[in-house]
Amino acid sequence: MADENSTTPPDRCPACGERALAPWRTVPGSDPALPGEYTLARCAGCGTAVTLDPAPPEAHESGAYGGGAPRGSRLAAPLLRHFDRRRLSFLARAGAHPPGRLLDIGAGRGRFVAAARTTGWQADGIEPSLRGVSGARAQGIELTQAGIEDAAVEPGSLDAASLWHVLEHLDDPAAALEQIAGWIAPGGALVVGVPNLASVQSGAGGARWYHLDVPRHRTHFTVRGLHALLRRRGLEPVATHHVLAEHNPFGLWVSVVSRATTTPSWLYHALKRNASLRSRDALITVAALPFVPVAILAELAFGLARRGGTIAVVSRRR
Ligand SMILES: [Zn+2]
Repeated sequence: MADENSTTPPDRCPACGERALAPWRTVPGSDPALPGEYTLARCAGCGTAVTLDPAPPEAHESGAYGGGAPRGSRLAAPLLRHFDRRRLSFLARAGAHPPGRLLDIGAGRGRFVAAARTTGWQADGIEPSLRGVSGARAQGIELTQAGIEDAAVEPGSLDAASLWHVLEHLDDPAAALEQIAGWIAPGGALVVGVPNLASVQSGAGGARWYHLDVPRHRTHFTVRGLHALLRRRGLEPVATHHVLAEHNPFGLWVSVVSRATTTPSWLYHALKRNASLRSRDALITVAALPFVPVAILAELAFGLARRGGTIAVVSRRR
């Protein structure tokens, strides 16, 4: 766990840049492989929070991030393709259509790059982990192994970029967005997906909210905070989507069930082969299955009320 220096809140909110952060709450590690307590601080202006305690070096290589195909991944494939098309549609609705150059930043195993190519984009991906790059290669997709700070991308060369559930993992999201904004041509579009700390499910899940994912998530954005950060980096938000089937209904349901299970987000970890299937948590989870349709409808309502569990913000380079 962290020493005192590392838990000192930063001088300025990393999102809006206007206010200092104040200590907020202590939450348990979201992954059985990353136990302990983590301190969060929050901005009184935009509501964005940060995880003060550092993530251990192995955070992105252990537990649910340990690698290997999740249980049921073949069954999920058609659904994942649907989610990729929806992300592309967000760009298209903001005026970013193929042909053109698209970069997926933090491309994982390259699924979105492949989806973008099938619609006519000249799409590439950068991904820092060897596991992701190797996994993509096994599917016939070449990615560049690089982080944002060391990627060689021509300034102003991109017509579109995707930063999907990446920004919240970065220690300096403002520096990353500055770099990315420089890669995008004026008028080009960026789609950013992040959890929404100002969502109904964040409140319902509390310290065990599924999308808190502490300590891997370093910044916990609100819509207001993300908009402010994008604007500060020359990216004008043009659309904010709250109805997202990809993460939101599951996030709501698991967050509520997590209040009764011993392992936070037990089903997620069981699917990732990171929690035992033979546990009391399994019985609790099965008992909660009838409430899945309720969670789907409830999250749809929250999304329409602009309080969705995760958001997708499309911005255009000025
Ligand atoms: Zn702020």
